[in-house]
Amino acid sequence: MNRDYYEVLGVDKTATEAEIKKAYRKLALKYHPDVCPDKSEAEDKFKEITEAYETLSNPSKRSTYDRVGHAGFGQASSGAGFSDYGGFGNFSDIFETFFGGGFGTSPFGTQTRTRPTSPRRGPDLQADVELSFEESIFGAEVKLKVSRYRRCDNCAGTGAEPGSDIKTCPSCGGRGEIQRAQNIFGGQVIRIETCPECQGEGKIFETKCKHCNSTGRIRSTKIVPIKVPEGAYSGLHIRKASEGSVGVRGGPSGDLLIVVHVRPHPVFKREGDDIYCDVTISVSTAALGGQIEVPSVYGALKLDLHAGTQSGTTIRLKDKGAPSIHGRGRGNQYTTLIVEIPRNLSEKEKALFQELASISGETIVKASRKSKVFSTVKDVFGASD
Ligand SMILES: [Zn+2]
Ligand SMILES: [Zn+2]
Repeated sequence: MNRDYYEVLGVDKTATEAEIKKAYRKLALKYHPDVCPDKSEAEDKFKEITEAYETLSNPSKRSTYDRVGHAGFGQASSGAGFSDYGGFGNFSDIFETFFGGGFGTSPFGTQTRTRPTSPRRGPDLQADVELSFEESIFGAEVKLKVSRYRRCDNCAGTGAEPGSDIKTCPSCGGRGEIQRAQNIFGGQVIRIETCPECQGEGKIFETKCKHCNSTGRIRSTKIVPIKVPEGAYSGLHIRKASEGSVGVRGGPSGDLLIVVHVRPHPVFKREGDDIYCDVTISVSTAALGGQIEVPSVYGALKLDLHAGTQSGTTIRLKDKGAPSIHGRGRGNQYTTLIVEIPRNLSEKEKALFQELASISGETIVKASRKSKVFSTVKDVFGASD
């Protein structure tokens, strides 16, 4: 049977939002399972007041409740559907909002909360590796110098000088926790905190390890070999498991995360697994056709051009792109042909071009020496000469 939410929080039906919040805060401080001696009673009570608060602090839920009571909340009216409200996660959020966290993910009890003293996985490390364009295509073995924490050999990670005796922590008397009074919202709450002296262990070593100052870990530099797969690209992440920093109190090591950066290439550009490049050909080759050499990451390739090849023509060279990192074959190479117009013609070349023009019935009108239009065009299009 559900109690009336207003009754639960001890407020009037006309209570303002602020009054509801205040009432909830007071009760939450009283019944929080981490501070209340009778844990199971506190849990039930805490659930009840939080459920009431969740409903009454939300204007739309409150108006539904005012109209139809518990019936407006389906399962919740049976008392079993607390999860309809977003479950304990949400519930915990509320608590965190009020008390600034420190109780772990569950507001209930020490058995589920993450004690700051339990073994903790070491942090992941990130490192950058720079590759040449070719290395990214064909893969590479890179040796990375990584500075990270490793387990202290002297104490084998325990933090105690070998042979040191263990004694009860004098700060907390072996409980691993200390109580601290804190003023929140004008009220006082007793917070239970991990004993800083023994890190919650309740025991301390008589002699601390001198090598690591009892932390159980030492900073060191290691060369980690990294195998970069063929087809790697800028932004690729490579994970090396357990090559990060060592965990705390026997926790596993973190991972090493390598971010690939590829240096630009003077000739090739890459998009996905395809490679792009420009190749210049002469006017004669473009007009007459013929065999040319085209660069590729796999070496020079011979290409037959037909007569009358136009500038800007793009030729696809199948499977001459980058290998797919997922093992799905290779991309293509797209080569764009740029016909180069000769500059600084010799007298003979000039004569030949003139003859060519006259054969094709073209009249070349000589540009006037101080042509204003030409220089303007030059300015606009930025021609180089
Ligand atoms: Zn040590
Ligand atoms: Zn202690």
